[in-house]
Amino acid sequence: MLEELKKRVYEANMLLPKYGLITFTWGNVSEIDREAGLVAIKPSGVDYDKMTPEDIVILDLDGNKIEGRMNPSTDTPTHLELYKAFPEIGGVVHTHSTFATSWAQAGKDIPCYGTTHADYFYGSIPCIRNLTAEEIEEAYEKNTGLSIVERYMKDNINPAYVPGCVCKNHGPFTWGENGNEAVHNAVVVEEVAKMAFLTLGINPEAGMTPQYMQDKHFMRKHGPNAYYGQGK
Ligand SMILES: [Zn+2]
Repeated sequence: MLEELKKRVYEANMLLPKYGLITFTWGNVSEIDREAGLVAIKPSGVDYDKMTPEDIVILDLDGNKIEGRMNPSTDTPTHLELYKAFPEIGGVVHTHSTFATSWAQAGKDIPCYGTTHADYFYGSIPCIRNLTAEEIEEAYEKNTGLSIVERYMKDNINPAYVPGCVCKNHGPFTWGENGNEAVHNAVVVEEVAKMAFLTLGINPEAGMTPQYMQDKHFMRKHGPNAYYGQGK
């Protein structure tokens, strides 16, 4: 069942070690088949070099396991809340990549200091609030997803324009049209987190990229009149 989806999710998961985004098993990729209403995700705690496409777990949006021998990633409820709240997304990634996680631990939004950031993220990459003890006790992973959604709603952030965030004292979650694109955005978050850190090291007073420059860079790739790349 959904063999193509499982293969894609397996391959997207294998990109995480390839791009140096994970240590041990600290990361996961999922992708949704919107028509079937089913999500494919990495199994929990399985070494990347031992994982096969057959190990990928299929669930419905309520978290019921539909297929798979293994338990799904413990972060699955976070992925499911993002799919439910953001109907335009098709893939979700979570890692503990070093620089993005450092911004999460520092409790800071990652400001846009240059066009690398502006090409992919329109404005700051938000740092999502900590959960309360009650929220963690009640349903930690589900409430992590809801806390992300809460911030996007509260600040009127478009999830298609800001395809990722860092959760305070935890790490980054990114998303995209599919698993591959979500991984791509996870790489971008790590790179711009690193660049922002280095920028502040060189000049703690560095200002953000002027808004008109951010507008130009983001919109030429993602706006209604995008013209970057081939065939747009
Ligand atoms: Zn985590």
